[in-house]
Amino acid sequence: MVNEVDYSLLQHNTFGIDAKCRRFVEYCSVEEAQEIARRLQEPYLLIGAGSNLLLTKDFEGTVVHSALKGIETQSDSRIRCGSGETWDEVVAWCVGHRLYGAENLSLIPGEVGASAVQNIGAYGAEVKDLIASVEAVEIGTGRLCVFSREECQYGYRDSRFKHEWKNKYLITHVVYQLSSDESRQSTEYGNIRSELDRRGIQTPTAAELRQVVIDIRNAKLPDPKVTGNAGSFFMNPVVERKKFEQLLAAYPDMPHYYIDADHEKIPAGWMIDQCGWKGKSLGKAGVHDKQALVLVNRGGATGLEIVDLCETIRNDVRERFGIDIHPEVNIV
Ligand SMILES: Cc1cc2nc3c(=O)[nH]c(=O)nc-3n(C[C@H](O)[C@H](O)[C@H](O)COP(=O)(O)OP(=O)(O)OC[C@H]3O[C@@H](n4cnc5c(N)ncnc54)[C@H](O)[C@@H]3O)c2cc1C
Repeated sequence: MVNEVDYSLLQHNTFGIDAKCRRFVEYCSVEEAQEIARRLQEPYLLIGAGSNLLLTKDFEGTVVHSALKGIETQSDSRIRCGSGETWDEVVAWCVGHRLYGAENLSLIPGEVGASAVQNIGAYGAEVKDLIASVEAVEIGTGRLCVFSREECQYGYRDSRFKHEWKNKYLITHVVYQLSSDESRQSTEYGNIRSELDRRGIQTPTAAELRQVVIDIRNAKLPDPKVTGNAGSFFMNPVVERKKFEQLLAAYPDMPHYYIDADHEKIPAGWMIDQCGWKGKSLGKAGVHDKQALVLVNRGGATGLEIVDLCETIRNDVRERFGIDIHPEVNIV
């Protein structure tokens, strides 16, 4: 078990913020997770790879991280993964072992534990459709728990772990149900199809599909190892139909997605771009030049500088569109 004091979190957040925590503990087994869970005192922060996290100051408490590794086959196409496994390595492992269904989720940063908290998704796929169960240890008691997919109450980038179960459990394992049928692929979302066509591939293998997703993502998103970021910084707002119709009259080219008879979703990235922020900076914090939804650390930015940029952008969007956009990233 790792147990450090006054520990730098620089390697534990993809924004590249050099904040410290008072104590850093890491569990490598279920027993260690139970020991930590029984002794843990507030304030504490559970983290994975910190790829959905913005640290604005030193954390005066305990940061808990899972270093629980391992991918084991439970049945033909069911696997049980340690929560500290890197998600993309699990996807690569699946493709290499002829287990299909995770390819569209290739290259999403972060770890297995967080995949079950966040319900990660991309290119028309969501991890909830692969999750069979989540194993965790209850904080305070050390009790072992197994939750079914239904109990986790998954929604769009959402789960019970973000609400009533927030900070209540240390996730130790996630069981994923994959498929042995390589032909059940989802290739029609985003620019996957056009990229396959460009490569002259009609029916891709899982490995080819994974490579296309990786290449599209690499072309569009900054690599956190090079440029600090946490992916999409803001959630896409859902607005009332009346408000949407007013906006559409003013901006006929505005992209939008139908939610239900009363609501429409508007891409926050489009609004930020309209406000002229794409590629721009405020101090050492900036907006990615290929995707305005992504805020970046241009080098040496503090968490507060990134929050400043976030608030300036929110004000501009509010002034221009009358819409409040909210961060998706956990700001601590
Ligand atoms: C370049 C880039 C691209 C991205 N693209 C996507 C994308 O396409 N789709 C998408 O969905 N997300 C995307 N993200 C966001 C991010 O990858 C996901 O949110 C990911 O699941 C975060 O994983 P993490 O291990 O870094 O978790 P963290 O950010 O460290 O934590 C996320 C949440 O999980 C909780 N948590 C983590 N581990 C545990 C555990 N063991 N037990 C209990 N709780 C835990 C934390 O408390 C926190 O609430 C992107 C991020 C980046 C940097």
